[in-house]
Amino acid sequence: MGADTTVMGRPDESAEGFPCYPTLDLTVCSSCNRGPARRLVIRRHVGYLAMQRFIRVEPVLCRECGTRTVLRYTKRTLIQGWWGPISLFIANPFTIAMNLVALVQARRTPSPEYTIQPKGIAT
Ligand SMILES: [Zn+2]
Repeated sequence: MGADTTVMGRPDESAEGFPCYPTLDLTVCSSCNRGPARRLVIRRHVGYLAMQRFIRVEPVLCRECGTRTVLRYTKRTLIQGWWGPISLFIANPFTIAMNLVALVQARRTPSPEYTIQPKGIAT
């Protein structure tokens, strides 16, 4: 549904907990295989005195997983995001604002109604 051409699927960090298989059906949650789901852009920011770290993932998630993930990322940002002047005044407020947008998008997604097993996994 999105008009932009951002490459789907792979998060910046494999350690963030999302499965790495490509999500073929965009309407199914990549975390629990339920639908409907939608792509969310979720950010996390870590600020240090001299440098900043931006983490951005674009998982396809249902309402429940999306809400949970946005809140988890935001919580970590609230803890880790303030430790530098740029982070404090610019990067972290931006990250939190964008996560609020993602949270609203997740909450607007209808509750999960159906489950589809991932297909194409080697058997
Ligand atoms: Zn889900």
